[in-house]
Amino acid sequence: MTDKLISIVLPVYNEHEILPTTIQTLEDFVAGQPQDYELIFVDDGSRDYSATIVEHARLKYHNLKLVQFSRNFGHQIAITAGIRYASGDAIVVMDADLQDPPEVIPAMIKQWQAGYQVVYGKRLQRDGETWFKKISAHWFYRILAKLTTIQIPTDTGDFRLIDRQVAETLKKVNEDDPYVRGLVSWVGFRQTAVEYERHERLAGKSKYPLKKMIKLAFDGITSFSAVPLKFATWLSAILISFGILLGLISLIVGQATNITLLVFMMCLCSGVILLIIGILGVYLSRIFAASRQRPLYIVANTVGFNKTAAITWH
Ligand code: UDP
Ligand code: MG
Repeated sequence: MTDKLISIVLPVYNEHEILPTTIQTLEDFVAGQPQDYELIFVDDGSRDYSATIVEHARLKYHNLKLVQFSRNFGHQIAITAGIRYASGDAIVVMDADLQDPPEVIPAMIKQWQAGYQVVYGKRLQRDGETWFKKISAHWFYRILAKLTTIQIPTDTGDFRLIDRQVAETLKKVNEDDPYVRGLVSWVGFRQTAVEYERHERLAGKSKYPLKKMIKLAFDGITSFSAVPLKFATWLSAILISFGILLGLISLIVGQATNITLLVFMMCLCSGVILLIIGILGVYLSRIFAASRQRPLYIVANTVGFNKTAAITWH
């Protein structure tokens, strides 16, 4: 299978500290592999000189490619763009901070050659991450699994190999706020896992502050589950019955407790209403975003692609 081309897609956001090491490590790795490789760096609006590093390295390594966003669109959108620009027979998505070790790629390719079309990396352990991140990630994947009917594997990030056919299918999904690891599960095909130990970030800080983590978790849940919407309805049914019951009791027991109970009831009811409005709002905002039909991202610059690829919007 030496005539196969493998694309590696790497989303990059302010990674100038680690990028030279990443490029060197990957180039050393691909030099020893039987397949041809292209490395696609998607610069997600970095404000440092990440893009310049890639452009410079390209003078030496002609298999490097760069897609440069006009601003920060987010990790998941950067991955989506990378998959769309990739021309390989298989595409590997990995972080640019070397937390996903390239040594795992041959194992993924082996499974791909055996006929699997999605080979995802399953983390055995996570080095050097805060206990908060470990615990929240652990529970998030388990709760998500309970909330959805599609099987999104637990403890897997975006480090995975996908076959060309899967990539072509994903290209047709034009969702706002994509949750790529969920979509990859959703499209189906033959899927399997390769286990690996996730390393510590070699340099720089995580580009996933709490705010971005919460957004990702929300996108994951609202993309693939309507359970929170139903949950609100159940909860409101219980609380409203409780309120009515309290009202009846206060009527029977007498006037002294009426005011307190009424206040209690009002708080309860308005709380429920607000909860439902809030959850409806989350879903409505998704419908709103989808109805706008905006391009998912705008590419300001590409390097190393032919002209037709460069003018494609999606
Ligand atoms: N990243 C990105 N856009 C963002 C945030 C992160 O492209 O808005 C990239 C980042 O450069 C890295 C990958 O996504 O290659 C994963 O981010 P990070 O390593 O910070 O996440 P963590 O490993 O801490 O979860
Ligand atoms: Mg990382």
